[in-house]
Amino acid sequence: MSALFPALAAAADRPALRFGAGPTTTYAELARAAGALTARLAGTGRVAVWATPTTETAVAVVAALLAGVPVVPLNPRTGARELAHIVGDSAPGAVLAGPGDALPDGLAEVPRIDVESSVAETDGPRVEEPTEPSDPEAPALIVYTSGTTGPPKGVVLSRRAVAASLDALAEAWAWTGDDVLVHGLPLFHVHGLVLGVIGPLRRGGELRHLGGFSVEGVAKELGDGGGTMLFGVPTMYHRIAEALPHDPALVRALAGARLLVSGSAALPVPDHERITAATGRTVIERYGMSETLMNTSVPVGSGPRPGSVGLPLRGVELRLVYEDDEDGGGVVDARDGETIGEVQVRGPNLFSAYLNRPEATAAAFTGDGWFRTGDMAVREADGFVRLVGRRATDLIKSGGYKIGAGEIENALLDHPEVREAAVTGAPDPDLGERIVAWVVPADPDRPPAPDALAAHVAGLLAPHKRPREVRFLAALPRNDMGKILKKALAENAEDSEA
Ligand code: ATP
Ligand code: MG
Repeated sequence: MSALFPALAAAADRPALRFGAGPTTTYAELARAAGALTARLAGTGRVAVWATPTTETAVAVVAALLAGVPVVPLNPRTGARELAHIVGDSAPGAVLAGPGDALPDGLAEVPRIDVESSVAETDGPRVEEPTEPSDPEAPALIVYTSGTTGPPKGVVLSRRAVAASLDALAEAWAWTGDDVLVHGLPLFHVHGLVLGVIGPLRRGGELRHLGGFSVEGVAKELGDGGGTMLFGVPTMYHRIAEALPHDPALVRALAGARLLVSGSAALPVPDHERITAATGRTVIERYGMSETLMNTSVPVGSGPRPGSVGLPLRGVELRLVYEDDEDGGGVVDARDGETIGEVQVRGPNLFSAYLNRPEATAAAFTGDGWFRTGDMAVREADGFVRLVGRRATDLIKSGGYKIGAGEIENALLDHPEVREAAVTGAPDPDLGERIVAWVVPADPDRPPAPDALAAHVAGLLAPHKRPREVRFLAALPRNDMGKILKKALAENAEDSEA
């Protein structure tokens, strides 16, 4: 297989990356620093990377990929129990960290290798010629899932999957070495690490990481600041949408960007529409997972498609399958924007296996080799995919209807007195399940009347989609990626019923 980072070999004086207010690292400097580190990785087996948003993390990941050593990115904010689970499961031979990083007790037994982000030309260690493995199936990364639906699972991603998915995105987004990517994503998941770091370096372009996300950082780096693309999760775009009306510099920055991309969770339609109204730009949504890297995206130039994750990327086969205990079910062919099925995918972007979980790996695939994503969707007449939620938590079977939580959430968010909303199903003697709305009111002292919210949803969607129960919260439970933890909501409901 060809190299993952062709631009590194050229080792040019072009800018490769910058984190926060730190110095810019060129491709030549990155090649030197990563090359020096590869020599120290021999025999480590598999390495954990303490994935702070720093140049050291990027150097560590590039070096390990060049050396053919699989990388396990660790979330520096992970709690002791989850860290113990990941370290025990992945058994890294070393942990790579920046010289100043204090590592927690959970890593005390793992040998540490300090990463230098710059290697002086004259007195640095001798740079070995990195030996990038030629086997496309060699594992490149072991990424742990977000743990939204259960304990995080280690997903083994090959070099073939990483290269195929990034190249398909490059085609869909016209992403080249001239692009300057801006983002403030964490680096321990596919979004921030594969798309956000390996992505621009594979293209030979530039990454400007904000250090941590801030609206001010976006306003400074994007547009006139030089940034051409922005990647973010919906909570970031929500903050942007809130700030736009009183921040002309932010409006200019977004209007001057070539591409705004959202993923990892559904971008609420009202946020999408507010950003378009203020800037004239549409946010493109793409859909992926740790196990599949990227599956679909709205192609550049499609115009506004709020609520849609677009079309399958090149090489990705996608089908919707309806499974039913009673009548068996089958493939959903209807392109009516109505009939819900589980998204199943095949393609070169797929993972190799769950680490140490052969049963889970086998269960994740159908007999004919399709990966069951667990996400539910419909297809529009033109083939565009609209996700309606996860099978486990977001598909509500109420009064004989199958209802996706997502469209009800968007309808609730459309109400001026609603700041945040999540929808779950609760067991109901009459309906099978009833729709429960969890609402963070815009004004905590004056929450909207539950009847008014139900009528608002019924008026926008359909009467059977109205919430039967409304619960008010100060904030929704979310993980580090801003994903709503629906299991925590459901448990909360059980607690308060008990
Ligand atoms: P776990 O598998 O541990 O429960 P997780 O599924 O949240 O956690 P990830 O692999 O990080 O872990 O996330 C993938 C999921 O994120 C997808 O299955 C999908 O539900 C959701 N997702 C990703 N992109 C989008 C999007 N654009 N719109 C809606 N949901 C999305
Ligand atoms: Mg998952």
